[in-house]
Amino acid sequence: MESVWKKEVPPFAHGQEGALPRRTEVAIVGGGLVGVLTALYLKENGIDSVVLEAGEAPGVGQSGRTTGKITCQHGLKYAALIRDKGESAARTWASACQGAIHAYEGIVGRLGLSCDLEMLPALLYTQKNDGALEREASAARRCGIAAELRRRTDLPFDVSLALSYPRQAQLQPYKFLLGVASRVRVFCGVRVTAIKGRHLLTEEGDEIEAQRVVLACHYPIGLLPSTVFTRLWQSTSYVLALGGVRPLAGMYYGIDRDGLSLRSHGSTLLLTGMSHRTGEEHPPAFEALEGRAREYFPEGHVVTRWAAQDCMSEDGLPLVGPASPLTPHHYIATGFSKWGMTGAMLAAQMIAGDIVGAPHFAAPLCSPARFTLSRLRATARQVGETARGWGRRLFEVPAELSHELAPGEGEIALSGGIKVAHSRDEQGEEHILRPYCTHMGCQVNYNPDTLSWDCPCHGSRFSEEGKVLDAPATKPLSKKPTAQGDTP
Ligand SMILES: Cc1cc2nc3c(=O)[nH]c(=O)nc-3n(C[C@H](O)[C@H](O)[C@H](O)COP(=O)(O)OP(=O)(O)OC[C@H]3O[C@@H](n4cnc5c(N)ncnc54)[C@H](O)[C@@H]3O)c2cc1C
Repeated sequence: MESVWKKEVPPFAHGQEGALPRRTEVAIVGGGLVGVLTALYLKENGIDSVVLEAGEAPGVGQSGRTTGKITCQHGLKYAALIRDKGESAARTWASACQGAIHAYEGIVGRLGLSCDLEMLPALLYTQKNDGALEREASAARRCGIAAELRRRTDLPFDVSLALSYPRQAQLQPYKFLLGVASRVRVFCGVRVTAIKGRHLLTEEGDEIEAQRVVLACHYPIGLLPSTVFTRLWQSTSYVLALGGVRPLAGMYYGIDRDGLSLRSHGSTLLLTGMSHRTGEEHPPAFEALEGRAREYFPEGHVVTRWAAQDCMSEDGLPLVGPASPLTPHHYIATGFSKWGMTGAMLAAQMIAGDIVGAPHFAAPLCSPARFTLSRLRATARQVGETARGWGRRLFEVPAELSHELAPGEGEIALSGGIKVAHSRDEQGEEHILRPYCTHMGCQVNYNPDTLSWDCPCHGSRFSEEGKVLDAPATKPLSKKPTAQGDTP
């Protein structure tokens, strides 16, 4: 399940050795793109920071599993932005994203990174919804993007219309990320479990004092009084890497319900799709993706496959800036809605800009304090989903535990009157865990595609042994199940 990116790169050898510093100007939680880019911009402005990464290396989260398109084409974005926020806001967003693409080019040049950066068009395509693409074309042009409608593409299936955004970019995201990470101070294997004012506590019992804290951990952890968890949800998508496929001349994104995202990396083609709310039961995703791959690319063979998830925001724009007016020294950067390559660059520029007193021109658009009607709808939905997760915990009565599970299967079951999360890993070993997410206590679901326990409320993920795979959880699933009404 390793991404094609990680398979190509030797282990990271630039992590900081020795004890954590007791004090720092800025502590950055999470060594994904947001974390390392923020640290780079701060360093370039003479500000001391440390990146604290829970994994064994930077980029073990979504940034090492992305498809790595760097584009101002974010699906059907600009028509919706003009409708909901006005033309000036939409133009500002387009210009900020175009600036983020230039910033990638700038960093690659400045640091001399070798990361397969290529300038290519990014295309939206449809097989049935020409009207939506025509409206998007006109909106994108009003925002200053020279987008062009086309009837033909080099995709191996017919499209009824495509919309091309010229001079966008793609790169090998993991090479880029590790290149940046090797220029900043990153401590690996450090999981932050709590933030108390200006103090961060780690799983190992260390404490760091920071003037400012940047939560670059994808889904912000441990934040009160922020209400960010009432607005965000996570969506999982699946990626298949196919070898032996003729490179495509552009990066593609299908706007139809069953549309796929496609990009080439040399003769490897990445086919992405089958999205669903993280933690939700779903039809076998890799099987469906492999069916589409056989149909469109019969010459290809599967090199690897993996899944990733992203935080979705109420209005499709990220949430970047102070977490709440009561905690101006806690920054969040999240809600990239599957466009976090440009988003991470902008988040890093916005947070570093705020810290050095040079605010980014698009920062107000991403302010976590913004209020829209869609925020109310998102909050209602999130509260409903959390209630549903707790409802399953309290009222759903599963069958007695069976020992019949095949490798790669999992079930919520009753064992001695107590609910358990029961799975059998691919080596045939059985695991029994407490089935309640350690973030807010919702009942988790087994995902047979990723062999993990995923939480449908806020998208935390756990391995079959109970280890935290994805935030917002910071603590593992317990191996000692207790009565189901217990608090987490
Ligand atoms: C399938 C898929 C394809 C995508 N493709 C694209 C694309 O082509 N273009 C695009 O623009 N965007 C894309 N995205 C979105 C983009 O990949 C993400 O938005 C972006 O990588 C998020 O970066 P991040 O730094 O916020 O998070 P991450 O990369 O997840 O970094 C967070 C880090 O924090 C660490 N962490 C978590 N909790 C803790 C803790 N308690 N203590 C310490 N460390 C912690 C994690 O280990 C992780 O390394 C895609 C998303 C998906 C799901």
